[in-house]
Amino acid sequence: MIAAGASSIVPLGVASADQRRADALVALLLGTDEVDAVGSWQGRAPSVQLTVAATTLLGLDDHPGELDGYGPIPAAMARAIAADPTGTWRRLLTDNSGRLLDYGRTTYRPPQPLVDHVIARDRTCRFPGCTRPARRCHIDHQLPWNEHGTTAECNCQCLCSRHHHLKHETGWTVTGHPADDLTWTSPTGHTYRAPPGHYDTPDHEGPPF
Ligand SMILES: [Zn+2]
Repeated sequence: MIAAGASSIVPLGVASADQRRADALVALLLGTDEVDAVGSWQGRAPSVQLTVAATTLLGLDDHPGELDGYGPIPAAMARAIAADPTGTWRRLLTDNSGRLLDYGRTTYRPPQPLVDHVIARDRTCRFPGCTRPARRCHIDHQLPWNEHGTTAECNCQCLCSRHHHLKHETGWTVTGHPADDLTWTSPTGHTYRAPPGHYDTPDHEGPPF
């Protein structure tokens, strides 16, 4: 079972001219009562983004849904929108605070919650031996965006400016989940391991005297 708050489901693109419920929500989002006028917007259907806990969708609890740009909505309404057959669904990963960590292909630039998470996770540049603080690094897409990489916790890593350029311009490659060991391969085929960011726990710091 998926714990409430640990995972959310977001339907994207819930919009159709003949779905009164979705249209009303679009009108709310756009601040207009002219529902008919937003049937398409610059040739694209407007989209409504709803975040709701999987457990609520399953009817196991009644946590409110979160309508992007509007706020909380009752669980029953969230379930009704979720039942809209014209909606496009994506399952998105959140941290325990409900902050989104996987934006898929919806945005190239990592949103701030993802940036904060990656910086806190990595602590330093993820090139072997580099100690440049993560907060002074770039957020790199391990699999490049133009090769269908995603803007997600599993594909974003901190690299300092020097090593970011090294990766993109000199033939170095890197594999591995950024929360775990990374394996870097040089242009000559040598491999190097880069361990994940590490936090000392009080047990590792010895007695307080
Ligand atoms: Zn570096």
